[in-house]
Amino acid sequence: MIKKREKRIRKLRKNHVWITIAAFIVVFIIGAIVMMAFSEQICWYIVDSKIYSQYTVVKNMEAIYSETVRHESYDIDQLERTLALSSDSFAVLDNNGNVIMGNDYADLGSEDGSFTIQDSTEKITLYKSDLNDLLYVENGQLKPSKDMKKLFKYASDQINSESMEDVDRIQDEDDEIVMSSSEFEKLFSKNLNLPLWLAKTADNGDVIVSKCLLNLSLNDFMLILKLMATMFVIAYFVFIILIVSVIVTVSNQKKNFNLYFKDTITGGNNRNMYLYNGEKMLKKRRNLNRTYTVVSLEFVKYNAFCLCHSMDAGEEVLTRMYKCLKANMNKGEIAAHMTIAEFALLLNYLDTDSLTARLHKIIDELDDIDPDHNFVFHVGVKIVPPAREDPSDPRRKDFDLELEYNNACTARMPRDDKDDNKIYFFDQKLIDEQHWEDKISECQSKAIDNDEFVIYYQPKYDPNTDKLTGAEALIRWNSPDLGFVSPGRFIPQFEKSGFITEIDHYMLKHVAMDQKKWLDSGYECVPVSVNVSRAHFIESDLAEQIKDIVDAAGAPRNLLEIELTESAFFDDKNALISTIQRLQDYGFTVSMDDFGSGFSSLNSLKDLPLDVLKLDAGFFSGDISDDRSGIVVSETIRLAKSLNMKTVAEGVELKEQVEFLAAKGCDMIQGYYYSKPLPEGDFVEKLKS
Ligand code: C2E
Ligand code: CA
Ligand code: CA
Repeated sequence: MIKKREKRIRKLRKNHVWITIAAFIVVFIIGAIVMMAFSEQICWYIVDSKIYSQYTVVKNMEAIYSETVRHESYDIDQLERTLALSSDSFAVLDNNGNVIMGNDYADLGSEDGSFTIQDSTEKITLYKSDLNDLLYVENGQLKPSKDMKKLFKYASDQINSESMEDVDRIQDEDDEIVMSSSEFEKLFSKNLNLPLWLAKTADNGDVIVSKCLLNLSLNDFMLILKLMATMFVIAYFVFIILIVSVIVTVSNQKKNFNLYFKDTITGGNNRNMYLYNGEKMLKKRRNLNRTYTVVSLEFVKYNAFCLCHSMDAGEEVLTRMYKCLKANMNKGEIAAHMTIAEFALLLNYLDTDSLTARLHKIIDELDDIDPDHNFVFHVGVKIVPPAREDPSDPRRKDFDLELEYNNACTARMPRDDKDDNKIYFFDQKLIDEQHWEDKISECQSKAIDNDEFVIYYQPKYDPNTDKLTGAEALIRWNSPDLGFVSPGRFIPQFEKSGFITEIDHYMLKHVAMDQKKWLDSGYECVPVSVNVSRAHFIESDLAEQIKDIVDAAGAPRNLLEIELTESAFFDDKNALISTIQRLQDYGFTVSMDDFGSGFSSLNSLKDLPLDVLKLDAGFFSGDISDDRSGIVVSETIRLAKSLNMKTVAEGVELKEQVEFLAAKGCDMIQGYYYSKPLPEGDFVEKLKS
């Protein structure tokens, strides 16, 4: 149970925030990489496609050059003029890098590297110019200068050269040019021509270098900028969604936590909180050797209070009670509202007297909540000893507060109906009793089918003649699981559970069957009395049920006596009288069992038309010859005679008692003096003799 509870709480505490954040970061990184790769591809598609057309010019020049120089004799001036037709600025370099011919190549520098044009295997060699920093080659790719200032200067120079007199330029202290907004606008409406020296090697090893202009429309830059902006916007939204979902997750978790740990009526600690925090506290190393008190406090008659007032008023009182309890808690103590009218406390323990005084003080304060009402509380207390006192669990690892709370509840189970405050301390006997009751109810139903119940017969004798004149059938339970159980232990529980009616049927049926068997065997039978429980007498057709059972067995009705206990006389008297009369009409005898053990014996005698009075064994526990008991017994016998009833004295163990009873005219004696209850075989022997 503890494990289950811990599992549930761990599940509840599991934080999904980090999972959410991690998921978002992964998505974000992947998205960023994809977007960057995509925009780079677009950038280089633009650059490469522009260079490709320029490169075609160099390739053509190289083709013309290679073709021309292959011939032995060619006109070098003519070749130079032909090449000049393709490019205004070009040069032909020999193996040593010396210029063989060319035009307007003053800014041509050294070889810079090579790169491959997009979608082509062709390699272009790039030569430096005095503007070589604007573009450079890295890893075979043409890259724009990282020096943006230079790039902008070049761009603005270009714009200026296209007569931009109207542009107002701003110059800072370092004499560096900073673009004005209008200049920027112009810049973006123009194309930017970046100078490039592209080279191609001819068949004879000479290199044809031609200056070309990489014509970048500034709209291309805008496209890239837009792409970057889109990326930024997406990233921004992803970030916002992340923040929102983290907030939602955290607040949901808090809500779940409150649902699980907060009481809906009082707004304070609930059962889960009590068990969780209490257990945690008691298991702490520094608390292991402390003694605690688990208290269950029940507001008795809460339902009646709600009936007389309202549910709201009831809940209001519960809330105030909780606050009062909470205010009474010291450091390291817990109060909680458990179920409707039940509170739990976990208190430090000093000794029983101070605990009892403290609990009484708390109850008084609770009662003072509403001076117009007298609230009643039943309190159950279970002491939790220091952990060292339990060698099997010195660290309270298996400590289960729920079990201890249940013990405290068991302690306060109402044992009387009186309306006053009670404090009960838990006693292990209560648990043993409960275990016993559980065991009995587990075993009872199969006991009938398995014939575990056995009938014993206790003979009744006439004290004047010492003759066997009757018997009482008494049940015995020989259970394979519980052993030999005495009726004093299981009958009260059968009465509580209602199973007693089945026992009564069982006894009536088997006694009737035995009587029939004995008669058939030719024995002289005596009337046998069977105990019928109070629960059974509530049934209106009891007389008919008994008649049917006895008739079905084929036994004569006059040999069966029904014993009724005094407690049955508290029920509906008229119904009881009617049942007794009908039983007598059918031919049965009815007796009052245990006469004298209850409070209303005489009263019942007055109203009920009974045939036999059984004097309770309590009369014969002391010295019967003592004046007072003797008078009571002899007068009771006289009274019964006057009411036309026979008398049976129960529990008679001594000779003097028998003689006394015989002298007073008692009709029968049932007691150990004559015989203990006997198994059927032994009783039959008595019948025979
Ligand atoms: P009870 O009906 O008053 O039965 C008499 C009890 O007194 C029997 O106990 C019997 O063994 C005992 N007893 C008889 N003579 C003496 C004596 O001289 N000295 C002492 N110390 N005891 C004597 P038992 O059989 O243990 O039954 C106890 C109670 O269980 C019965 O009290 C009756 O209330 C109940 N019970 C027993 N059998 C049945 C049954 O078949 N049906 C019902 N409903 N209750 C039964
Ligand atoms: Ca009896
Ligand atoms: Ca009795």
